[in-house]
Amino acid sequence: MVAGVLIELSNRNIDRVFDYNVPAYLISKIKIGMRVVVPFSRLHLEGFVLELKDKSEVDNLKEIEKIVDQDIFLNQEQILLGRLMKEDTLSTLISCYQVMLPKALKASINSNVSKKYDTFYKLSDKEFTKLNKTQQQIIDKIKKEGEIKRSAALNISSSSLNTLLKKEILIPFKKEHYRLKHTANNRTIHKLTSEQRQVVTNILESKAQTHLIYGVTGSGKTEVYMELIDYYLKQGKTAIMLVPEISLTPQMIRRFEERFSSSIAALHSALSDGEKYDEYRRIYRGEVSIVIGARSAVFAPLKNLGIIIIDEEHSDSYKQDAMNPRYDTLTVATHRADFNNAKIVLGSATPSLESFARAQKNVYNLLCLPHRINGKNLPHIEIVDMNKEVKYIKGHFSRLLLQKIKEKKQKHEQIILLLNRRGYASFLTCKNCGYTVKCPNCDITLTYHKSSNNLRCHYCGYAEKYLTTCPNCGEKALNDLGVGTEKVEEELLDLIPDLKILRMDFDTTSRKGMHKKIIESFRKHEYDVLLGTQIVAKGLDFDKVTLVGIINADTSLNIPDFRSSENTFSLLSQTSGRSGRSKETGEVIIQTYNKDHYAIKYASTHDYLGFYNKEMSIRRTLKYPPYYYLLYLRVSSKDNNYLLKEATKIKNTLKNRLSATIVLGPTPCNIFKKNLKYRYSIVLKYKKEENLKELLNKIIDYYKSNKNITIDLDFNPIHFD
Ligand code: ADP
Ligand code: ZN
Repeated sequence: MVAGVLIELSNRNIDRVFDYNVPAYLISKIKIGMRVVVPFSRLHLEGFVLELKDKSEVDNLKEIEKIVDQDIFLNQEQILLGRLMKEDTLSTLISCYQVMLPKALKASINSNVSKKYDTFYKLSDKEFTKLNKTQQQIIDKIKKEGEIKRSAALNISSSSLNTLLKKEILIPFKKEHYRLKHTANNRTIHKLTSEQRQVVTNILESKAQTHLIYGVTGSGKTEVYMELIDYYLKQGKTAIMLVPEISLTPQMIRRFEERFSSSIAALHSALSDGEKYDEYRRIYRGEVSIVIGARSAVFAPLKNLGIIIIDEEHSDSYKQDAMNPRYDTLTVATHRADFNNAKIVLGSATPSLESFARAQKNVYNLLCLPHRINGKNLPHIEIVDMNKEVKYIKGHFSRLLLQKIKEKKQKHEQIILLLNRRGYASFLTCKNCGYTVKCPNCDITLTYHKSSNNLRCHYCGYAEKYLTTCPNCGEKALNDLGVGTEKVEEELLDLIPDLKILRMDFDTTSRKGMHKKIIESFRKHEYDVLLGTQIVAKGLDFDKVTLVGIINADTSLNIPDFRSSENTFSLLSQTSGRSGRSKETGEVIIQTYNKDHYAIKYASTHDYLGFYNKEMSIRRTLKYPPYYYLLYLRVSSKDNNYLLKEATKIKNTLKNRLSATIVLGPTPCNIFKKNLKYRYSIVLKYKKEENLKELLNKIIDYYKSNKNITIDLDFNPIHFD
């Protein structure tokens, strides 16, 4: 027997199966999808068995050395999915399989992350008489339950346990134990409102594969998800519930556990490798029927999937873009839905333009939940024009925001403050008038490059000299804006010394478990204020929050990205949605230098449709998604001159061969030099281009043995760095 093995090295040169003989003693054990060790040049490498056949075209085959894992291997669906992902992303096939499996399944890590076992005892068939009281207690428990756990026996009496073992009345055995505890809870099921019920019925009766629930914050989307999942579980099917990131998970898991008891597994980045390993195996063994998790949970090896839910579908965390394969979760979900004949439900208070446009064209089935539960009003939003406030501003705080914070504290209500900040981009904003320097061709913010001391557009390459005087108001007030939460916390404490402030940002949440702790202590009202970055916008549900303050609405407007207005609108709407969720109407204060910007105006009137229509007209004019698809092609090399030459060659090839595509660049990437490599990008805008992938594959092929050039492809890119 011969096995075709895909080697675990992400190198385009060897991204195909190599044939190996299967030794006789492995023939009965080996299966397609299993991980094996094979000799490869002079190394011993792991790989996946993708084919099993009688013979090979190749002579003198080497032999498979061993099987890595008998229990867990890629199933038929996963093997197919990997091939589809390779077509979607043009990544290596091996990277597509690797992303499906938790890290801990790799042998190299396996040595640290192992299965954990508990010792149990059962009765042997040895005769016994004359037992003392505690020995009898142990025996009784085993008779009743069939076995006893070591810790339980020790609790009764360690000397009795030892005696019973010495006399061989008890035999020890080991049982695997999972690191995470899943507790069953009492079920609390809300009776759905008629609006919610209609949405559920419509989704279940509709023939569409993909459904979009556009429901305002607090409209009861999560209850709808649970009801749908409940339906599929009763049909004997399984469900995947995706959430943007860990910040949402603790609350979501709690609600799901309350309703569905213990058949839930959670996969997210706050778990240790060992915990992930355990959860993965529970799922794999069919012990679980619901998986909740972030992006990668879309790969959970559940069988017989009935439904995949993608909550807060607009979130950029659903795109993997930092490394290959650069997949988007919805596309993967769609393949899985095809395979399983399952439904996909997207939900958001601010759907992405792409999704809403598809719903408008009836590609997706659109469902609306326009009201908050129990007729609660959406919060009242007030805009503070920081231009007029300049004279009075203390640190970052307007008079109104400070006064409201004091008021809420006095009333024992809670406050969420958002410091709108994204790390990577540096851009110039006028402190005096709020003007930001933009590219005349692309309508995105120019990025400040310190090394060359100029401002550049990283879409089209336009550049101009670094300014200090604002071209709008003439003041010498252009400044690189960048503040951290720590600084704002200090300021606020100076202004209101007895305020209890809890910070939540990347620094305070990076340690394991911290995120959950922060949420819990804020829920218990140990703090007045939760101050954080974008992370506080995400679906948190706190009863006592009646004020949300957005310290600087403008920063996300100025990110050099064609989605900056959409992201700002959605950030403001989502953050506002944290206010007044249970008590009286909440309040929101937005501080901005751009009070007339449409993203801010529409957010302040809760007008998603208004925003959608305005933004769509801009996207149409500028040929951006959802009217056009984008491909971000990045070429990198240590040799800048060589790189520019090759990048230009690639650009010309693309331009000459693709008739229906706009090809921009090459232009230096936002991060021009990374890991000693220079980087240029080429951006493609296209609607329909039959030969695109074929041509890209040829280009990749042409360079695959060239060690001096790396090509990265990102279809439907989210970030442009
Ligand atoms: P969303 O996901 O749209 O933000 P949630 O599902 O979190 O909304 O619902 C908001 C609040 O309303 C939650 O506290 C939830 O428990 C409650 N809720 C949702 N549906 C109902 C219902 N049918 N009856 C009573 N309370 C409900
Ligand atoms: Zn430009």
